[in-house]
Amino acid sequence: MATYDFDIGILGGGAAGLTVTSGASQFGAKTLLIEKENALGGDCLHYGCVPSKTLIKTAHVYHLMKNAGKYGLPPVDPRPVDYQEVARRIQSVIRVIEEYDSKERFCKLGAQVEFGNASFIDEHSVRLNGRSYSAKTWVIATGSSPAIPSIEGIDRTPYITNKELFSLDKLPKSMIAIGGGPVSIEMAQAFNRLGTQVTVIELGNQILGAEDKDMADQLLNILISEGITFYLGSATLSIKDLGSEKEVVIKNGEGKTLSLRAEIILIAVGRQANLKGLGLEGISVEFDKKGLKIDSRLRTNHRHIFAAGDTTGAYQFTHAAGYEGGIVLSNAILHLPRKVDYTNLPWCTYTDPELASIGMNEKRAKGAGVDYSVWTEEFKLNDRSLAEGEEEGQIKLLLDRKEKPIGIQILGPRAGDLVSEWVAIMNGKVRLSTIASAIHPYPTLGEINKRVIGTFFSSKIFSEKVKKALRFFFNLKGRACG
Ligand SMILES: Cc1cc2nc3c(=O)[nH]c(=O)nc-3n(C[C@H](O)[C@H](O)[C@H](O)COP(=O)(O)OP(=O)(O)OC[C@H]3O[C@@H](n4cnc5c(N)ncnc54)[C@H](O)[C@@H]3O)c2cc1C
Repeated sequence: MATYDFDIGILGGGAAGLTVTSGASQFGAKTLLIEKENALGGDCLHYGCVPSKTLIKTAHVYHLMKNAGKYGLPPVDPRPVDYQEVARRIQSVIRVIEEYDSKERFCKLGAQVEFGNASFIDEHSVRLNGRSYSAKTWVIATGSSPAIPSIEGIDRTPYITNKELFSLDKLPKSMIAIGGGPVSIEMAQAFNRLGTQVTVIELGNQILGAEDKDMADQLLNILISEGITFYLGSATLSIKDLGSEKEVVIKNGEGKTLSLRAEIILIAVGRQANLKGLGLEGISVEFDKKGLKIDSRLRTNHRHIFAAGDTTGAYQFTHAAGYEGGIVLSNAILHLPRKVDYTNLPWCTYTDPELASIGMNEKRAKGAGVDYSVWTEEFKLNDRSLAEGEEEGQIKLLLDRKEKPIGIQILGPRAGDLVSEWVAIMNGKVRLSTIASAIHPYPTLGEINKRVIGTFFSSKIFSEKVKKALRFFFNLKGRACG
């Protein structure tokens, strides 16, 4: 039998790679983790979730200060934002989390951590810094990078991506964001609130293309009311460096060619898997533009080489990467065959209000040919929302023909947290009647989850049929007013 230096080797020290490394080493596997950069944590920690959510909070506080009057407070006219201060706060949050993702911590768990660019030299070995390392099983968890579209002039015009966004040395006066996905929309609102004049260009006819259009449009209207300019259904034709400004030429939804200008251009049109330079062609590991070609157990065409995280091209979220890391551990280390199942994968776009989702929305239900009914409840009927001054948005519940929940979308304050109750309901297959009769604390935003279920049940409970039966059996006398 062939012998290898390690039981398992992992390429990439982000959310997926760290999950596998931590689990494998704690299960007693001799584990090697190789990270290209000189720190662990990946995109989520350094250029993604953590800096973006920290920036969003800062922008939210500034927004509240400017809107103090709405809360019955004396108006505040705060000084302009010093972005270097904001960037310092972002870095300080990253530094705290970084400790938890340190080489030393993984070493304590039993894993060997190496830094540098590794490349496969055969199906079981990689070369790194002039040395070769072999492992029985490999996991490719090298994440993704911003996809760069082929736009005329892009090779001659400076632009930024999420990699530069959080360490700018000053707040840009104006920004054109190309792309209307979650990264672009979250950052558009945050920068706009901090004082940047933001324009978003999106090829499709809605922002956040994966969401139902009615929910995305409600959010769009809120963002427009805050002062962001949108060009939907608009193609970016070219970009040009004009010195202190950049020009972006677009063809808008009506077919008109427009020239827009801004201090910086943010490219946020999606992600592409980091697979270049890994030597995958040399060992015939199959991949395409989306990512690695894998089966439902996350194995590539070489069954001992797995994928997890953004390299799968499936759902590019940190919690998806963690989940996939767990699936790899089960298959590769515990030898318990386990397939991925994304049916109940939640996600959230952290705008204000947030837009969260789990299961099917109307788009996906229609696509899958599933019959459904829709039940909604608005946040303006939730007492806590009113008290908080955050009454925009709604919850939308989709039930199948058997009246089982197949999906929820929530546009509203703390939607990402509110969706967690649905994570439990849907994964635990909890009956809606259980939630309808459960006591939720008052006044909380979470009551909206119970209320939307109540809306569904009240159409049945307070029906003419039930009233008639009660009148018949108990001689109820009916309306007392009008
Ligand atoms: C601006 C932004 C905001 C986001 N916000 C959220 C959010 O709020 N919630 C959420 O769930 N997701 C969010 N995401 C997505 C999330 O960051 C990713 O889905 C997640 O980081 C994927 O984890 P991963 O392990 O696959 O990749 P990563 O975390 O990127 O880790 C991959 C690691 O592999 C390393 N690597 C690359 N090439 C090599 C190589 N050749 N050899 C060795 N190592 C290599 C990289 O340096 C990196 O450290 C956001 C993304 C962006 C860009």
